[in-house]
Amino acid sequence: MNIICQFCKSKNFVAECPSDGKFTSCCRKEKIKLEKPSDALGNDLLYPNFLLGLLTNPNNPDYKNFHDSIRSYNSVVSFASMGAKVVDFSGGGPYVFKVYGQICHRTSHIQSVSGQAPQYDQLYVIDSTQATEIRVNHPANEQCNIRILDQIDSFFRQHNRLSDTYRMLREVESRVVAE
Ligand SMILES: [Zn+2]
Repeated sequence: MNIICQFCKSKNFVAECPSDGKFTSCCRKEKIKLEKPSDALGNDLLYPNFLLGLLTNPNNPDYKNFHDSIRSYNSVVSFASMGAKVVDFSGGGPYVFKVYGQICHRTSHIQSVSGQAPQYDQLYVIDSTQATEIRVNHPANEQCNIRILDQIDSFFRQHNRLSDTYRMLREVESRVVAE
């Protein structure tokens, strides 16, 4: 993906390049301009240093692990997953991913059902250390490094609005239950 859009700097494959060299799939030839992300006070949000190091610095001791398991790291801190009726194409031929009907977000209640391990937003309303332990103990995340998971969790708790909102909802819920 080394073919860069001259307008928005998106990364593309050679085969994706239109004959005039101007990409439409990313920014419609510069027609769509995304605003820089900013906080509530209008300050530019900078790329978090620890993530930049994990992504771009091969001398970072966690660089290889992060790249090798990047999909696990992405899933492990998600607030939802994709729900859809996936059409099964068993048999030969190239891989095809086709869904039927509507696509939805699968997420969870704020509190876990008794007996079930917390997941999605439930991991943001419990203690951070406990959340990281639950994440790393899941068989799908056995390659994930506890130090990286800790960093991502702390970052989300500090800067992610959803994480904040879920904790607030959890507090409201406990108050209502107590009354
Ligand atoms: Zn573009």
